[in-house]
Order: sequence, then structure tokens, then C-alpha cells
Amino acid sequence: MPEITILKRPREEAVITQRMFFKKTARGKVMKVLRERYLRDDISCGVNACRACNAAAQTVLPRSGDTTHKLFPTGHYILPDTNVFLAQMDLIESNHFTTPIIVLQTVMEEVRHRSLPLYSRLKALTTTDEQKVWVFYNEFRSETAIVREEDETPNDRNDRGIRKAAQWYNAHLTLAHPPIRGQPNLALPKVVLLTDDFANRQKADNESIPCISVRNYVEGMKNSDQLLDLLSATGSDELEPTRAVAGRTALYTDYLPMSTLLAGVKAGQLHQGHFNANKYNYLEGTVPVSAFTKPVLLVGRENMNRAVQGDVVAVEVFDESEWKAPTDEVIDQDATLKNDDAEDSEEEGDDLMVHEHESKALRTERTKKPPTEKQPTGRVVGIIKRNWRAYVCHIDSTSLTSNNSTSLGLQTVFATPVSRLLPRIRLRTRQAPSLVGHKILVTIDRWDITSRYPEGHFVRALGKAESKEAEQESLLLEFEVPYRPFGKAILDCLPPEGEQWVVPPKSPANPEWRDRVDLRDLIICSIDPPGNIFKTSYKSGTLILGPPGCQDIDDALHARRLTNGNIEAGVHIADVSHFVHPDTAMDNEAAARGTTVYLVDKRIDMLPALLGTNLCSLRPHVERLAFSVIWELTQDAEIVNVRFTKSVIASKAAFEYGEAQLRKDDPKLNDELTQSIRLLNSLAQKLKAKRMAAGALNLASPEVKIHLDSSESSDPVDVEQKALHETNSLVEEFMLLANTSVARQIQESFPQTAVLRRHLPPPHTNFDKLQDILQKRKGLKLDVSSSGALADSLDECVDPKEPAFNTLVRIMATRCMLSAEYFSSGSVSRDTFGHYGLASPIYTHFTSPIRRYADVLVHRQLAAAIGYSPLHPTLHAKMHVERIMDVVNRRHRMAQMASRASVEFYVGLALKGRNERETEVVEDAFVIRTFRNGLGVFVSKLGLEGLVMFKRDTQFDAENYTITVPSSGTGQPDVAISVFDKVTVRIEVEKDKNTQRGRVKMTLVSPVDSRAL
Ligand SMILES: [Zn+2]
Repeated sequence: MPEITILKRPREEAVITQRMFFKKTARGKVMKVLRERYLRDDISCGVNACRACNAAAQTVLPRSGDTTHKLFPTGHYILPDTNVFLAQMDLIESNHFTTPIIVLQTVMEEVRHRSLPLYSRLKALTTTDEQKVWVFYNEFRSETAIVREEDETPNDRNDRGIRKAAQWYNAHLTLAHPPIRGQPNLALPKVVLLTDDFANRQKADNESIPCISVRNYVEGMKNSDQLLDLLSATGSDELEPTRAVAGRTALYTDYLPMSTLLAGVKAGQLHQGHFNANKYNYLEGTVPVSAFTKPVLLVGRENMNRAVQGDVVAVEVFDESEWKAPTDEVIDQDATLKNDDAEDSEEEGDDLMVHEHESKALRTERTKKPPTEKQPTGRVVGIIKRNWRAYVCHIDSTSLTSNNSTSLGLQTVFATPVSRLLPRIRLRTRQAPSLVGHKILVTIDRWDITSRYPEGHFVRALGKAESKEAEQESLLLEFEVPYRPFGKAILDCLPPEGEQWVVPPKSPANPEWRDRVDLRDLIICSIDPPGNIFKTSYKSGTLILGPPGCQDIDDALHARRLTNGNIEAGVHIADVSHFVHPDTAMDNEAAARGTTVYLVDKRIDMLPALLGTNLCSLRPHVERLAFSVIWELTQDAEIVNVRFTKSVIASKAAFEYGEAQLRKDDPKLNDELTQSIRLLNSLAQKLKAKRMAAGALNLASPEVKIHLDSSESSDPVDVEQKALHETNSLVEEFMLLANTSVARQIQESFPQTAVLRRHLPPPHTNFDKLQDILQKRKGLKLDVSSSGALADSLDECVDPKEPAFNTLVRIMATRCMLSAEYFSSGSVSRDTFGHYGLASPIYTHFTSPIRRYADVLVHRQLAAAIGYSPLHPTLHAKMHVERIMDVVNRRHRMAQMASRASVEFYVGLALKGRNERETEVVEDAFVIRTFRNGLGVFVSKLGLEGLVMFKRDTQFDAENYTITVPSSGTGQPDVAISVFDKVTVRIEVEKDKNTQRGRVKMTLVSPVDSRAL
């Protein structure tokens, strides 16, 4: 924003600049609000060396504009209206779109009101160095400010304001370029109003303002070939949908109007929820709604009615007599719709074929299912909120027309999203042949009732499929991980000393030492998982890469005996909130990122690396600021008291789990550090025993470690399961204890806004299926009446012949649970605070502020609770805390999925490598699911889940989770395969011919070779 000088205006003029509007208060009272604007004459037009504006003002627009457009040879700037930004952001953001842009304040405001995500993209655009974008504060400049007329709609008022600004700009340019005596008059650049609103263009024409529609404008640009692909099909009155809508049969029913939907939801006749696609069967989806314990099942395309994964939909639930169980069949859209033609898929013949295919798929018997498996069924009657974004896709090469497969003509093709949860997208492109085999980003624009597929447009290419760069970026995009480098404003928040920053000498004059305890003499050490530090593995001599980068050590510990026989134990956490202050650019960025994201070969930090890996990292032999939790504990690990204090520490050592374990177990060692580890370990064991006795769960998720060749090549050479040391749980127990102690303290101090974490108990019905399988297949009982009962019965789920069986059951049980979440203590009822998995009545996250934003807030609240610093007002506001928690919860989920996908990608690469070296990759696997036409299997060694498909008919006993493969006259007996059976599978990585994407394919080796089936 330019520097502000306020011009005093006479009273009568000030009246003109008053804006009056009505505002509804929280209690529903209507208030009249008068807002006075102070108009100014010194707001710069942004054109370089403008003679009419303040020469000192910062400018970004080149003096003669852009001269490469066919229609504007004398140079031009564009001034887009609001809808252009709302509908065509991909176009405007493209690197090929180089025209200087004038963004009016009016337009910014409108975009902000209409869409926050688009607003942040627009804001980002105005700060990037790559594009020339000028924000003109037209509402503040006296000549361009306008007041809404009595009979004018706010929309018309804004359109008029935009035209007025365009007019002013064109006149202003004559002042910017005054004629020079003795020289012919220069041809002036133009400011061109860009709008797809026909009426607005007509008005502009009448007012002699240069204006043009987006499509016509792009057609005259020098990069029109690439840019035309980016045009969105929405928001334009000129752009035709891929085919004429008229005369086509509707495949879907129209949505009900929004007011009807909202009224229906309110009255309980309709139900609102997020649409979830079924990854095994593209013809089924579910919508969890609050009125039913089981989610509403949507069977078939018509009932899903154009809902896309993540959309908030309104569903109508059918009569109970129509309720059904979900199918047990894998239905793959790529296979079923293989021959569908992108250009002509609505032609009758094809349509019938697809229809036949799909209805056959839907007709499969659901009747034999036990009635307990029935779910409410229903259909989508409207969309409350679309959650469309840009999707990573591959072009399906079979959808290219053969005569067009090399030429650059415009054609309609299918883009297949990487995610199996999304429908194929139809898009028009001129670049199809060059995009085959690449990962590309595609946005959905619309989905008409006459179109089987949604229509979208190409955004940009990410690179060759399977190249590491393209895979990594697409993963970040797919899970919406913000990965832009930290900008200058953020880096400016770091201490100016940079790497040279040190804890200043102890003195009351140094503010760092205010109210801090000097713990530099304590024998403190850190113990972390391997891979947090690059290390050579002892066995294989290869590098193990865990979370990449160097140390981000956010916790350290100590323990010592007190003279009274009790033990003092301390957890010391990096004092991140000393460096990250509320409401700064760095704080806002960290809040938006929510968490650091760990991929196999990359880490996307929440905070700039200077903090994470240096100033806040509790490295050994370096003085660091910390936030300490110190307990006095009895020998039996009972808490006598706890105190919280800011401190200065100097860690004495950084161990890996394995090293700490060796040290603890080495009888020759008896130094203070080793004693401290032993003390911590014995306390940890007692703490753990208590937790377990209280009913904490020992959950499991498939975890593997990926060995890479070297840090350079990052080719995985092997995958192995993660090893567990006793010392893992040493650290874990103390972190849990710290988190619980801190949670109690901040909840007591700030009962309305304490940032806490809870894990709701899962609905018992979530376990129905697993219980049934365990009962029928193994005669085992799973008691889910409480977390303690569940923990006990999980302990008994053992197969003496199969040690891995217990872990498998734990993995399956974990999947039946809900995920833990952050919340603000005043926002939910007190009896729902509990953490089910940890069996703790209250919990929070305090111990990883370098990589989790919730912990940063918790640090601020704890600092305020002990009177160290006042609480920032935003942390007193329940609504504000709730909003941040929403973002952070979402980011955490996405980060987990991104990590998992990254591991999967590397497991795939490792498999590909083995496939090349070995004749056949064969591994043990457990059957975890049976389908009518296949098996779901889990390869625990690789943490990999896969599908084995049977082409030939098998006998399927849904009730007993058994599939029988008939001998078919080979003389061999029939083979029955059930859930929990151990089988061996052959694993291949197959390249999909159409999309060039690698896919893991599994076939059975034993008990029967499934390749022939
Ligand atoms: Zn100017």
C-alpha cells in the first residue's frame, strides 16, 4: 500500500465519500454503519516514470505496456473485471501470460468476498516478481472513487467503478506521456478493459473505453496456442461447452435450488455431508451424515449425481426397504470405460454400451448379505459446496483421435486423475500429443446434466511421468501442501544475526535471560530416530534417509536423583515462540502451513530452516533457549509436582535410539549421562505400564524404512520394516507426560481457548465387520466396549503359528478408528476431551513446535499461564482458535497422506529395481479382504497393499469371506482362499499403456497361480 497522506476536504465533499451500509449484528440486530473514506490525489498509476504521478512512487508497469498483442500494436495494459479473476485464474497465473495487469481495489475486494482461495492466489500474484501486476486503489483516488446510486445494484456500481477507472487510466496515460515539442505525437498505449460480461462491454463501447472478451484477447496474444488451453469453460458467455447441450438426453437430474437444499437440511428431510468416492468401485460412493451411524450409500452414477470427492452435498435418503449393503466387487473405471470416446461419448451406440456395462456391474447380488451390513441408500439432490481444485492427471492416449495424434489441432481428450477417487475429466487442448506421457494439472470447470464426464481445462505440465521432479511436485499438489519458498517478508522476521545468532551472555540486561532458569549445567541429552541425522548404517554400509535434512531436534531430556530419594525428570523443548511472534508474516505462514511435511526424499518445512535446523534445534554442546517441564517423581513414577519454566540449556549429547540403547545396556559405562538414560528408562517403563493399565491402545500402522543408495542419487535399494528399540518408548513416554501436564495447565488457565488434542472413541459399528471376520475366520472375539477392553482383546488376537498376525489385526483395528484432532477447549463439551487411543482424559501437543503449529500456540498459552508473557488477544478469541484448528487439522491429514504416497512411490521404484534384477519378485502376503472378483492383500514387509484380480468366475461366499477357485477340470482340487490366509504373491510394476503411469500389479503364486485365472 502506498504511503498515506490524508487530504483535508471541505465538509460538503466529505459527504459524497460516505458509504452507508447495513450490518447484521451477532444477535440479529440491524445496524446502520457509516464509513467515511478519505480521498486522495496522490495514488500512483504504477506506470514507470509517469510524468503525472509522484516520481518517488514505486511502479511496476512498463512505460509502453505490452506491444506484442495483434490488436494493440501501440502497447497496452489490461484491466480485468472481477469475473475474469474468478473464472480464469489459471490463465492469468500462467508464465506465458505476460501482459502487465492493473488490478483495481474494487476488484480485489469483490474477489475476496467471493472466494478466499482465489483471493490468496490473486494476492500472491500481486507480490510475485515474475509478473507485472499493479494494484490501483481506485476507491481512494478522488477521480475514480464512485458512490452507489440509489437505484443501482452493488454489482452495477462496481462495474461502473471499473469502467470509470479504465476511462481515467486512458486519459491519465496522455499525461504520463506528454507530447514533446518538435516531435510527432507518440501513439499512446491503451488500458484495455477485459470482461466476459456482454452488457458491460456494450456500455464500455458507448463510453469509448477499449474493451475485449477474454477469448478474443487470448486469440491475439503471441502465446495463444498454449494460453487458449488454459481458458476455463465457466464464467464465459462466449465459450461453448464441448458439445451443444440442446437436444441431448439428460443423464443426471438437475440440482435443487440452494434455498430448497438448506431448508431441507434444516427440516431434516435432506442430509448434508462430504461425498466420498469408493476407490475400488467407481459406481459407488458414500456420504457420512449425522442422522445415521452408517454413511449413506450412493449406488450408481445417477444417484451420485455428479458429486466429486470432497464436495459438500445434500442427499435424500431412500425408504428403508431400499437400503442395501455395499458391493463386494472391484469395478475399475479405466477398464469399464476403456473404449469410451472423448469426442463422441454421448453418441447413442456408445452410450448404450457403457450403460449396459455399468448396469451389469450394478446388478450383482447384494441380497445374500447379512441384514446388519445394510446401509441407508440415497441420492444426491444438490451440491452445497463444490471443493474442486486442480488435479494431477495423465492424458489417456487412447482418447487421442488417430489422425490427430501428431498434429496440434484442437481436440477433446480424457484426462485420468492420479487419484482413483476422481472421475475422468474431458478437456479440450491443442497440445494433446505433446502431453501424452506427462503429468499434467487439470481443473474441473463444469459438469452438465447431459455430460457423462465433467469438463475441465489444462493448467500446466509437471514433467515426464515417473521422473522424480514431476512425481514429487504432483504429490505436493495432490495433497495441497504449500511448498513455495519462504518470501522476503517471512525471512525478514528472522533474527538479523542469522547463523551467527547465539544465546547472549547471562545478564539481566539481556532480555533473553528475563525470567529464564539457567539449566546449562544439567546433564541433558536428546534421543532421536535414526535418519533425523544422516548416518551410515552399520550393516549394509548404505545411507539411510529418514526425514531428510539435518538435525531438527526439538526435544531433550534429563533425569537425576534428588536427596529426598525422589527423581527429578525434565523435558526441554525448543523455545520456538521466542522467535515466532504472533501475527507476523512468519507466524501467518506457519499457521497456513500447519505442519512440516516429510516426504522420503524431501522435507517441506513449516518454519524457515534457520530456525528449524539451527537456532531452535537443541544441538549438543550449544546453548539454546528452551521451554522446560520439570517433574518431581517418586521411584514408582508418581508425580509429586510439576513446574514449567523458560530456560537456557546446553545439551551434552545427541543420540539415536540404537545408540542410547547400547549405552544403557553397556555394563562398563557408568557416567552421569548413562545413569541419566537408565533413570529415564526405568521411569518410562513404569509410566508405560500405568498407561497400559489405564486402557491405552497399542496401535499399529504399516511402517517401513527405505534404504537409498546415496543421498545424491536417491534410488531406493531396499525397503525394510522399522525396528523398535526400548529407547523409542523412553522418549515417547516422556513426551506424552509433558503433553498431558501442559494440557492440564493451559486448560486450567484458559478454559475457553486452550489448544488441546482429542481422539474420540470410535462408534462400535465401525468394528462390526472386523469382529465378524475375526469370529468366523479365527474364532476370536474383539471386545470394543472400551479402549481398555479393546486393548486386552487385541493382545489375545494371536495365531501361535503366525507372529505377524497380531500386528495385522492391530493395523486393521486402527483403520476402524477415528483420527485424533485439535480443538479449542471452549468449543466442545468437557466430557469429549478424552484421548481414546492414549486413554488420557486430556491431551495436547507441546513437544514439537518446530514442525507443528498447534505446539507453537500451546507454547504461547503456557508462557501466558506461567506469567512469562501476556497472551496475544487472538488466543483469547474462541472463533479465531477454532479457525486455526480447522486449518491445522486439515493440513495434518494431508501431510500424512502425502508422506504415505511418497513412501508408496519409493516402494514402487524399489520394486521396479528388483523386477529388473530378479526374475520374479515374490513375497508373503495376508489376505485382508475378499471381493467377488478378487482379493485385497497386504504385504507387510513392504507395507504395501494391493489387489489380486480374477478374470474367471470364482465362487464367492460373502458371509464367510471366502473365495473358491474351481479346479476347472485340471484334476486339481478346488482352492478356497479366505481373509487372514497367508498367500504368496508375485509383484510386478506395470506401465499403463494409455497413461504411461507405473502401477503395482499383484498375482497369486500360491495357493494357486492366478495368472491363468
Ligand atoms: Zn501516473
